[in-house]
Amino acid sequence: MAILAFIEQREGKVRPVSREVLGEATRLAAKLGGPVVGVCAAAADPGLAAMGDAGAERVLLAKHEAFASYDAAGYACAVVAAVEAVKPSVLLFGASSIGKDLAPRVAARLGVGLATDCTALSADGGKLVATRPVFAGKANLKVAFPKVPAMVSLRPKVFAPVSKNGNTAAVEPLAFSWDAAASRARVVRLAASGGGKVDLTESEIIVSGGRGLKGPENFKVIEELAEALGATVGASRAVVDAGWRPHSDQVGQTGKTVSPKLYVAVGISGAIQHLAGMSSSRCIVAINKDPEAPIFKVADYGLVGDLFEVVPALTRAVKELNEKS
Ligand code: FAD
Repeated sequence: MAILAFIEQREGKVRPVSREVLGEATRLAAKLGGPVVGVCAAAADPGLAAMGDAGAERVLLAKHEAFASYDAAGYACAVVAAVEAVKPSVLLFGASSIGKDLAPRVAARLGVGLATDCTALSADGGKLVATRPVFAGKANLKVAFPKVPAMVSLRPKVFAPVSKNGNTAAVEPLAFSWDAAASRARVVRLAASGGGKVDLTESEIIVSGGRGLKGPENFKVIEELAEALGATVGASRAVVDAGWRPHSDQVGQTGKTVSPKLYVAVGISGAIQHLAGMSSSRCIVAINKDPEAPIFKVADYGLVGDLFEVVPALTRAVKELNEKS
């Protein structure tokens, strides 16, 4: 049986998370068998043949002019049609904002279970087992699936993409029926936030600031370090609630879940709700003047000191290194 992967596009470009999903689908296919098939909903082909390099043998394209932007009901119809056509054993999504909205709709229509925001997949006796963090990352739940297809969404930046020597995928039109005019919701306008900066969930490096910054004007020390590192700025909820940063910057249980290669937490205590959003980062650096701050329990590197001295010194050191290389 095939492994079906949802390929997400926005504004006519395939999102990086789709390559991660196809990468994991490829590894899973080696354990469970079956070809890797992609499904994409779009107004025009966003270059799906190139998904062969990311692991897809073929990609089904559900084309509709309304798919120039995300349409929950229309996308769900398209993915359900792909499931009916392919009859996969496993259906994978990225746990992106679109994936988080779409996957439960598809699961409800198919009447099957869904494991969301998973950080590992394995095969046990030829069946999928998914691991997902629960209780704000304090425990990991292993999930088995009594029904087919097993549906999973994958946490962005956790699963490595693959590269198949520039292979190309066969792109086939997908027949599906959906009455856009009868839709109960319609996208009127898309308002981008974040001033064009890289989305936190897609950032390789994040420098986050907390209440230790003492005021919004002091975030410039965070911004300068972020610029030197080529990083995106994040924030704790305390500073977002205080109006120092926009909500789109918030990392944590009620903000974004991120898994960058490097997460630098500056003046953040490390409350469990903050850890829930960043503890799966590959390398965590904490800068805090309190040696007992809980953030140090999850940090790979800890720097005890006053951030107003430590961070500018770090920025200078990074800039010097940048100039040498
Ligand atoms: P604080 O806890 O006040 O920590 C400030 C830190 O800065 C301290 O550790 C202090 O030692 C250090 N510091 C101070 N001055 C300096 C200095 N000069 N140099 C170095 N260090 C210094 N929080 C989130 O972040 N994300 C969420 O999504 C989130 N969701 C929540 C959901 C719920 C339902 C609830 C109840 C809470 C949630 N919270 C969330 C809030 C969370 O519990 C904490 O209140 C919040 O994370 C604290 O933010 P902070 O670490 O910036 O501030």
